Amino acid sequence: MEFPKCVLENLRQPLEDGIVSVSRATGTIQFPAKFILVAAMNPCPCGYYSDPEQECICHQSQIVKYQKRASGPLLDRIDLHVEVPRVKLEKLESDQLAESSLDIRQRVQTARDIQNERYKTEKIFDNSEMTSEQIKKYCQLDVAGKELIRRAAEHLRFSARAYFRVLKLARTIADLEQSENVLVGHLAEALQYRPKIE
Ligand SMILES: [Zn+2]
Repeated sequence: MEFPKCVLENLRQPLEDGIVSVSRATGTIQFPAKFILVAAMNPCPCGYYSDPEQECICHQSQIVKYQKRASGPLLDRIDLHVEVPRVKLEKLESDQLAESSLDIRQRVQTARDIQNERYKTEKIFDNSEMTSEQIKKYCQLDVAGKELIRRAAEHLRFSARAYFRVLKLARTIADLEQSENVLVGHLAEALQYRPKIE
């Protein structure tokens, strides 16, 4: 199932503010709407655009039209963009076990505990809720980090929103590694998750 563009666009306000406003003749009511958005899309209607083994049969205009359904401002509000290439058959048949969900859960819980402790005197609970002032306080970068984000912001033409979202994400990556400071490696990883500019 594919969602109409107007439905996707309506996600922008709740993604940004954590509320949904419903307007009726009798007035406007706001509902709390904090959630984690997990979304997937194909690269083109046939699904094979950029696949190294199978040729895409879509016309260029179809690909552009298809990809435009997720607008730039919507993509800007999604912190982690991950391209998922087709899984090779050998990997599906492999007996090698991946990291267990239990271990991953433990790592996430530790990172959340670090955030709860850090913000115990603030009115927030986790990194995603940081204001720009709190970002300046808790996401201080060293010289290399400042230089990297300056170059990336220029090259990737960051909006102010993207700039702050990258810093929050870098803070979370640092917390997952139980690192007190946001290091240049954490920032570099966060930058990899921005949408790719074609
Ligand atoms: Zn295609």
